[in-house]
Amino acid sequence: MEFEPVIGLEIHAQLLTDTKIFCGCSAKFGAAPNTHTCPICLGMPGVLPVLNRKVVEYMIRMALATHCRINTECNFARKNYFYPDLPKGYQISQYAHPPAEHGWIELEINSGKKRIGITRIHMEEDAGKLMHDERNPVSLVDLNRTGVPLIEIVSEPDIRSAEEAAAYLRRLHETIVYVGICDGNMEEGSFRCDANVSLRPKGAEKFGTRTELKNMNSFRNVQRAVEYEIKRQQYVLESGGVVAQETRLWDDTAGVTQPMRGKEEAHDYRYFPDPDLVPVVIDEAWIDEIRGSLPELPLEKRERFMRDYLISSYDAGVLTVSRALADYYEEVVRLSDQPKIAANWVMGDVLRFLNEEKKDVRECPIAPASLAAMIRLIQGGTISGKMAKEVVEAMYKTGKPPEEIVKEQGLVQITDEVALARTLAEIIGKNPAQVEQYRAGKEKVFGFFVGQAMKATQGKANPQLINDLLKKMLAG
Ligand code: ADP
Ligand code: ZN
Ligand code: MG
Repeated sequence: MEFEPVIGLEIHAQLLTDTKIFCGCSAKFGAAPNTHTCPICLGMPGVLPVLNRKVVEYMIRMALATHCRINTECNFARKNYFYPDLPKGYQISQYAHPPAEHGWIELEINSGKKRIGITRIHMEEDAGKLMHDERNPVSLVDLNRTGVPLIEIVSEPDIRSAEEAAAYLRRLHETIVYVGICDGNMEEGSFRCDANVSLRPKGAEKFGTRTELKNMNSFRNVQRAVEYEIKRQQYVLESGGVVAQETRLWDDTAGVTQPMRGKEEAHDYRYFPDPDLVPVVIDEAWIDEIRGSLPELPLEKRERFMRDYLISSYDAGVLTVSRALADYYEEVVRLSDQPKIAANWVMGDVLRFLNEEKKDVRECPIAPASLAAMIRLIQGGTISGKMAKEVVEAMYKTGKPPEEIVKEQGLVQITDEVALARTLAEIIGKNPAQVEQYRAGKEKVFGFFVGQAMKATQGKANPQLINDLLKKMLAG
C-alpha cells in the first residue's frame, strides 16, 4: 500500500522586545542564571501580570506578513501543567480566542507554487530552562527565560514531504526576521519548531494518527527528523502495527526519533480564561498603522528584483535572503547602474569572502560605493575583468577603495594604442611562420597572437583593443 505523509508545524518564536511579556524584567538572552527575575515572572502569590504592548504589536506584524485575519478581540488563558521550569504551575497562553487566524504563506516547489495555510498565531510566555547535571543527581533551573514573550505559529496540515516542511520553515524564518520581530537564532532557541507527522493511505480522506517531533534545532534536522519519522511510521503500518499518538524527541547523533511521553490532549491542560488579565481589544487604526510600517516582504522583493533588474529568479532569491544583503545589492546597483554585473560580483566574490569568514554583509569591508566604483572601472576599460578579481580581493582585505588599489598595484589596463601597437608589431615580426598561416586562412592562429600579447603586457592590456589592433595589423 502506498502512504501519503501529512505534516503540520508549530513554531515558537521569541520576540525581540526589551522586556518580558507580563513584567518589566529584561528579556535578553545570556545573562547569569536567575538575574532577570521578579515576583511576577517567578509566579509569587498575589502579583498581577500586565501585558506588554510591544508583544501585541509584534504579533500583529507577523500576522499581517502571513496574510492572517486579525481578530480585534482576544484573551489570555491558563494552560495548566506542573513542571519545575514553570513556577506558577500554569503557562499564560491563548486558546479559544486567538488574535490571528486563517493566514497562508507561499512556497516555491519544483518550479511550482504552493500555499501552506496558517491556522493561527497567538501570544504566550516562555518557560524557564532546566539544566540536568550529568554527574550528580540534581537538576538546576534558570528562570531568566520564564515570561519571555513568544508567538506560536500553527500551520494547517498542508505539508506533504520533509522537503516541503523545511521549505515552509525557511520561508517563515525569513519572514519573521524580515519584519524584525525575532532574531531567528535556532541554536539559542529563539526560533523553535515542533513537527506533527502522520501517514494515510494514498487517496484517503481521513488523517492517520500523528506523532509530535521535538528537539530539532536546525532546518536540516527538521528535514532529517521528518524523513526518519515518515519511514518509521511506514514500517509500523506495513508490518500491521498502529502508530501511537506520542511526543518523540529527535536524536541528532543517532539520527532517529525516540518516544518521550504520551501526547497530552487539550482537555488535559484544563484551559480557562486567565482572571488576572483583561481581554485585549485591538484598535483597527493601530493595525493600519502597523501595516504601513511593514517592510517589503521577501517574496515581493524577489519579484521586484526580477522585474526591475532583469535578473534570474535564482539570483533574486540569493540576493533577498536577508534585508541587509538586498539593501547592499540595491545600493551597488544605484551607484553603478549595472544590475546584472552587480549581481554577479555580490553573489560571486563578495558572498564567498563573507561566507569563508562566516561574516554578515553588514560587516563587509567593501562598501557598496567601492564595489560600484570598481564596476565603473571595468566598464570604462581602466581594468580588465581579470584584474578586477585581484582588486576585489584586495578591497576585501584592506577596505580601501578600488582606485587606490589599482594605483598601488600598477594594475591599470594598457589602453594606450600607440604603445600597444608597438608591442604587437614586435610579436608579429618575431613570428613570420604564424603570420603566414593566419593569412593562408588558419584563423585559429589568431589565438596564439592574443596569448603572446597578453603575456608581453602581463595581462594588463585591454583585450578588446588587442583584438581590434591585431586584426588590422595581421590583415597586412
Ligand atoms: P497541539 O499539538 O497543541 O495539540 P493542534 O491540535 O493545534 O495542537 O495541532 C498541532 C499541529 O498538528 C498543527 O500544525 C496541525 O496542522 C497538525 N496536525 C493535526 N492533525 C495532524 C495529523 N493527523 N497529521 C499531521 N499533522 C497534524
Ligand atoms: Zn519579571
Ligand atoms: Mg503540538
